Amino acid sequence: MNTDKMKRKKNKEQYRVRTHLIHGNYESKKWDYDHHINPPISTSAMYRLSSANRGAQGFLEFADDTIDGTKQSPIYIYDRLEEPSRGMLEENLAYAESGEMCLTFANGMAAISAAVCVLCEQGHEVVAHEITYGCTYSLFNNWLPRFGIQTKWVDVNDEEALRQAITDKTRVLYFETPINPTLTLVDIAAKRKMVDEINKNRPEEHQIKIVVDNTFATPYGQRPIEHGADFSVQSLTKGISGFGTDMGGAVIGPHSYHSKLLVYRKDFGGVLNPRSAWTFLVYGLPSLATRFSNQIKTAQYVAKFLRGNPKIDEVTFPGFEEHPQYELAKRQMQTHEGKFAPGNMIYFTLKDAKIEGGQHPKVEKFIDYVADHAYCITLAVSLGYMKTLMENAYSMTHASLPDEEKRKMGMEPGAIRLSVGLEDWHDIAEDLQVALDHI
Ligand SMILES: *Cc1c(COP(=O)(O)O)cnc(C)c1O
Repeated sequence: MNTDKMKRKKNKEQYRVRTHLIHGNYESKKWDYDHHINPPISTSAMYRLSSANRGAQGFLEFADDTIDGTKQSPIYIYDRLEEPSRGMLEENLAYAESGEMCLTFANGMAAISAAVCVLCEQGHEVVAHEITYGCTYSLFNNWLPRFGIQTKWVDVNDEEALRQAITDKTRVLYFETPINPTLTLVDIAAKRKMVDEINKNRPEEHQIKIVVDNTFATPYGQRPIEHGADFSVQSLTKGISGFGTDMGGAVIGPHSYHSKLLVYRKDFGGVLNPRSAWTFLVYGLPSLATRFSNQIKTAQYVAKFLRGNPKIDEVTFPGFEEHPQYELAKRQMQTHEGKFAPGNMIYFTLKDAKIEGGQHPKVEKFIDYVADHAYCITLAVSLGYMKTLMENAYSMTHASLPDEEKRKMGMEPGAIRLSVGLEDWHDIAEDLQVALDHI
């Protein structure tokens, strides 16, 4: 390590997070790359152990949390255990999310399943919000019960229903905020207060942990841990990646869960590919603040355009004063510097396009017109990408949720989810207008 540079450097905390996201943690013990501008990419499935003693030491030290990783370089053994590119990304993500530690995974689903599985054993219960990302719903409903972990689905914003759903067996309270796709928010601090009240009478090993999916807001726009969540989970495939080239997932939380998660990841095997870790580290995180602040501005213009359009019924955007949780949005969705960050997602319904069940022909016509003719709006799932994406959440990303549950929670078959990209907002609005003119 170059000691001159160390001396010159101000304390990390004196720099703004936006700057830190670009420069990262170059004094990492994960790898000495002091003579590089970017961390070099490592693509080695296994590592030279040099002596029997060092090999044995490596296995002994793996997942040993009494060893301070900021003071001592790990002995790398095998990619599935630990690897430097991933390790550096984890340090930077933990910092961005205001968490003590971060572990990355192959994708968002691998991260979500890891978080829930280290917190629950056979016989335990999860209480989750009724609307979640479709694969999360399927994981909790189809797979976790095979391990004896049951999920109770409630509207977590209904305090009475939530209290009733929680039992002695509950170990996890799980929700997204903003909720995908309706952009309803959940007050994390209020849930913390309620869970603390319940936890007061429980021994440590029976305590309920709050797990929040932060995919929509990204750490630039919201840090659930700052509001009282125990864990923040997210898909790195979306806003963190931003360029749509790689998949990844992360769990951010207290240091006391680090070794458990590490061993879980070693044995279940959903490790993040080091090449993907490298792209998040070199492209994703450093461009996050610039991308996202511009996407938020653009989303504001596009949402206003939609709101004023006679062919549109309802437009939901947390940045609108008429959003029923606008005050909460302002409090909870903020950049590291405290600026309001209502996100880049818009949810809207076309006028006269409400029918009971199925797809309204008008909606289908609108979506197909966009898919065929729009230059800057792409019909595709995923979000947080620099290109604007549109989808019908009811029939696509949320297809696995039962109809009655979706309708109860305000999901319309005809509603459209828009992830606003980095294009000029006039072009996005014009592509939307041309499609609206055709229905
Ligand atoms: C995409 C997504 C996930 C899953 O992430 P993958 O990287 O696709 O596995 C989880 N939660 C939300 C809210 C998502 O949008």
